[in-house]
Amino acid sequence: SHVLVCGGTGCTSSGSEKIIEALKNELEKNGLTDEVAIVKTGCHGLCAAGPIMAVYPEACFYSMVKVEDIPEIVSEHLLKGRVVSRLLYKETSAEGGILSLNETDFYKKQTRIALRNCGVINPENIDEYIGTGGYEALGKVLTEMTPDEVIQTLLDAGLRGRGGAGFPTGLKWKFASGNRGNVQKYVCCNADEGDPGAFMDRSVLEGDPHVVLEAMAIAGYAIGADQGYIYVRAEYPIAVERLKIAIAQAREYGLLGKNIFDTGFNFDIDLRLGAGAFVCGEETALMTSIEGKRGEPRPRPPFPAVKGLFDKPTILNNVETYANIPQIILNGAQWFASMGTEKSKGTKVFALGGKVNNTGLVEIPMGTTLRTIVEDIGGGIPGGKKFKAAQTGGPSGGCIPAEHFDVPIDYDNLIAIGSMMGSGGLIVMDEDNCMVDIAKFFLQFTVDESCGKCTPCRVGTKRMYEILDKITKGQGTMEDIDKLEELCYYIKENALCGLGQTAPNPVLSTLRYFRDEYIAHVVDKK
Ligand code: SF4
Repeated sequence: SHVLVCGGTGCTSSGSEKIIEALKNELEKNGLTDEVAIVKTGCHGLCAAGPIMAVYPEACFYSMVKVEDIPEIVSEHLLKGRVVSRLLYKETSAEGGILSLNETDFYKKQTRIALRNCGVINPENIDEYIGTGGYEALGKVLTEMTPDEVIQTLLDAGLRGRGGAGFPTGLKWKFASGNRGNVQKYVCCNADEGDPGAFMDRSVLEGDPHVVLEAMAIAGYAIGADQGYIYVRAEYPIAVERLKIAIAQAREYGLLGKNIFDTGFNFDIDLRLGAGAFVCGEETALMTSIEGKRGEPRPRPPFPAVKGLFDKPTILNNVETYANIPQIILNGAQWFASMGTEKSKGTKVFALGGKVNNTGLVEIPMGTTLRTIVEDIGGGIPGGKKFKAAQTGGPSGGCIPAEHFDVPIDYDNLIAIGSMMGSGGLIVMDEDNCMVDIAKFFLQFTVDESCGKCTPCRVGTKRMYEILDKITKGQGTMEDIDKLEELCYYIKENALCGLGQTAPNPVLSTLRYFRDEYIAHVVDKK
């Protein structure tokens, strides 16, 4: 048997380390150490049901496991082959046999590309990654494809940046691809995920770190770079540890370093730890921080593809973007482009949180509706309450009200309805949530995280916050609402970087759809 225990941050914080320990002891006591393998995996996605354990070959899925349950799991299931029904995840004990996890409502409408190995393999063992086809894509590009063919494949696939802005990845690589071999270039990975409520990148790094290394090496080959940097938040200790292990193993296997696959291609990766500033997720600030300076944004142009890290041509992609690339290389551009909508191909990972039953990580084909995510995958809203809105894109995004529940989610549709994809935080709100409070929450975050370099953001967001505070305390006026709106447009147009330019979005989108709630708070309602 194989027992998979989730070792992602969610399950770890709800006790999975202790469960693994107890399981080891119990197996030893029962003389089963050689017969049962314990695999500590990354996140399964269904964080609400954690700590999670899956037992194979039956593929039975236990949820909310406690240390006290371990003796029963060992004596009943592993010794006698009798499934412990009381621990089965609610839907998996179907009449006539156990449903596999993939058949549950939570999983069956998902398509897992970026998350395909999360919860499946041991992320600390390179052989398991290789066993699922890992590093085959790197082998393929190095031995069968020219760098331009790699870039063309990404262009044909229609992959767009998953970090938020949705810029075509192939185009970014193309801009940085000139003068290969003659100029020092860099490949960077943005793993500085900082949106409140978002943990997509963390889960990929914790559950499948090698996919990022492999994709970065592919990027290095495509643009002609021999050095990569992963900029990862220090607040993600499990991800950092697994990346360190993965880099060491890849070097040992000759998959990073000199002369990879005996092709003469050299590429290595180093980690840089972020110190907790949200603005360092902005690409120019991130590069300034890697250079060892204070992480402040730089004006663009010049764009990083021309003058990036250490003033050299650089590409920066986010973790989820990279996680798609090896599969695109192996399965072809058409395969990827056949999923999604006309201008948004493939899938998107969302961190589903807030007022929804199945909180966790979901990966859906682009074009899936919010209704499917909230009702089918998310299992609806607790207590039978009514859906009011979902917030996407964190502090730079906006809200999707109930009237747009059936809009297919993709980059362009979200912008059209006043929100944005952002990196993938998706927070569900029900009828009890006050939308002015939500806007205030995100603005407080931006005020705290503004780097202070430019006045519109440094001072403007503070003024906005003061007005919002006044309104929520019942002391605001109609004039304050107008002033607030005016400030939003001013900051959007004049802030130096994306953080400031998008900071007013949560306010603007709540004003657009829930203006009556703002008016309900003020003293001189008309
Ligand atoms: Fe800094 Fe805000 Fe200006 Fe960006 S917009 S440079 S975060 S002050």
